[in-house]
Amino acid sequence: MTTTLFRGAVRTGAGDTDALAVRDGRVVALGAAALALDADEVVELGAGLLLPAFGDGHAHPLFGGLEHFGPQVKGLSSVEAIATEVGRWAAEHPDEEWIVGASYDPTLVPDGEFDARWLDAAVADRPVVLRAYDYHTVWCNTEALRRAGVTAATPDPRLGWIVRRPDGSALGTLREWHACDLVLDRVPGRPLDELVDALRVAGAAYASAGLTWVQDAWVEPEMVPAYVEAARRGALAFRANLAFRADPDRWREQRAEFVAARASVAAEGGPLLSARTVKFFADGVIEGGTAAMLEPYCDAPHSCGMPVWPPAALAEAVTAFDADGFQVHIHAIGDAGVRTALDAIEAAASANPTWDRRPVIAHVQIVDPADLDRFARLGVIANFEPLWAQLDPLQTELSIPRVGPERADRQYPMRGLVDSGAPVSFGSDWPVSSHQPLEGIQVAVTRRTFEGTPSRGWTPRERLTVDQALDAYTGGVAHQAFADDRRVLEVGGAADLVWLSADPRVVDPMRLRRIAVLGTWLAGTRTH
Ligand SMILES: [Zn+2]
Repeated sequence: MTTTLFRGAVRTGAGDTDALAVRDGRVVALGAAALALDADEVVELGAGLLLPAFGDGHAHPLFGGLEHFGPQVKGLSSVEAIATEVGRWAAEHPDEEWIVGASYDPTLVPDGEFDARWLDAAVADRPVVLRAYDYHTVWCNTEALRRAGVTAATPDPRLGWIVRRPDGSALGTLREWHACDLVLDRVPGRPLDELVDALRVAGAAYASAGLTWVQDAWVEPEMVPAYVEAARRGALAFRANLAFRADPDRWREQRAEFVAARASVAAEGGPLLSARTVKFFADGVIEGGTAAMLEPYCDAPHSCGMPVWPPAALAEAVTAFDADGFQVHIHAIGDAGVRTALDAIEAAASANPTWDRRPVIAHVQIVDPADLDRFARLGVIANFEPLWAQLDPLQTELSIPRVGPERADRQYPMRGLVDSGAPVSFGSDWPVSSHQPLEGIQVAVTRRTFEGTPSRGWTPRERLTVDQALDAYTGGVAHQAFADDRRVLEVGGAADLVWLSADPRVVDPMRLRRIAVLGTWLAGTRTH
């Protein structure tokens, strides 16, 4: 059995030391005891720092990996550039019946309303569907609308709407679940090999960013075989916990399906996979006007957004899945969405016997001050995507005009929740935003854009210290993952490690994202 000694600065999460030794996937010694061991292999940490590997508390590895295979529209800065790329990809893939891509920037045009004709100019004879980077909106061409049977006579579905031209016909932008599904349901499923390849791509991206565990925050049961197969082939370079999405229209039938899928992952998924979580969407997103708000939107005084579940139904479903032993993970963005999620978790906790449930509310964009202390009281993990806490065009063009200055100034209350004693974890929501933890940590610490604005930080009272941000991306996520042996580096704990080129606690905060990831180890095995 090989013993590897890491010599240099180690931040265990419970203190600092100067060495760590690993054998058989576990930490076997720290400090002087590690240095005294007879090591087979030595890693000199140099000017770098070793710490517990990062985890991602909310992401979509399969979607992220799949983006690699379609037209590369991510990051393009104009409608013309996107249409050109779609046309190029279509010409290179003449046998693909559907052209499916992600993820375009919805802030490129006013109100995010994209016209089918702009895509028709690139590809008119085959259906094209692109997801916006929020994954709550799609833009499609006229042929895709035709295949989906969407006409001026098609009513808006219950959850979502069809953006229309003045004459009532569909413009080409579909918002939220049931509207997006009108087209997405027509897209043929991907072959298993392609899904496994997508997970291989995702794993390489995660390993190079220092991540060893990811919460896949949206899995349909038909996606489970891709994970199991990737694990079986040794193609999975990260640990993953799968969350099944509860559908408000059929969650009662889903209970048995999810229990069966959880059991099959436990039986066949191997040591890297679990499927212990159920995902709920309490609401949508502020930029689309669909997050559930306690008071109306400023730009739509008749609308408080679009709750996905009636509150009593959400409480009933959360209580049922909690009784089935699932961890709940609720997407909640608006202050009404967050309150409804907290109410549902509180209902489950009072109806069901006590257990180690570790419920999660993800995104937590606007919290009513009356609800802040409830996270700590109920043990609810607040999962933030720290990269979002910056004054970027998504905020200035879409979110702030919709919610107004007072509510806008209360977004992403990270420091408030940490100080309240609530458990806090970080995530990326990749491919919605970058999967690189150090980018998120930089924003959590500075609340500035990468260009540096505003110079004192946006809502600066919510800035975290570097240690708080590191904890949220390491121990905080491990807590969410029920991985108590990965919260800190300790003897007997898992050797999931990341080696950074510098100590984040001593570099200029505006350069945190420039720190390189020199190595990543999953249970003692190097993945990067
Ligand atoms: Zn997500």
